[in-house]
Amino acid sequence: MKCEAPKQTAKELPLGDILEAGTAAEFETGSWRSERPVWHKETCIHCMFCWVSCPDTAIIVKDGKMTGINYEHCKGCGICAKECPTKQKSITMEIEKK
Ligand code: SF4
Ligand code: SF4
Repeated sequence: MKCEAPKQTAKELPLGDILEAGTAAEFETGSWRSERPVWHKETCIHCMFCWVSCPDTAIIVKDGKMTGINYEHCKGCGICAKECPTKQKSITMEIEKK
């Protein structure tokens, strides 16, 4: 079978092919998650390391303090748990129960 190259140049091809760029908020990407970050607010010092390191902007902040995790968009990458500096780890990862 002969495969034909697209006629458009790279700049003419649609961004993201199927999905348009900048539309992540419209999709519940949390459904991809196999692990879930769990926040332990009693040990959280609100340093916001998790917030600056989350690639999905899934750390919820109110008045400059962490208030939770947006599970609709968190993909469970675990970076927030890795970056949390508290000795007890104020975010830990657990296997997602589907
Ligand atoms: S990184 Fe840890 S201590 Fe810092 S705000 Fe996030 S959960 Fe709290
Ligand atoms: S697990 Fe990943 S996507 Fe989810 S809140 Fe932590 S850093 Fe963000």
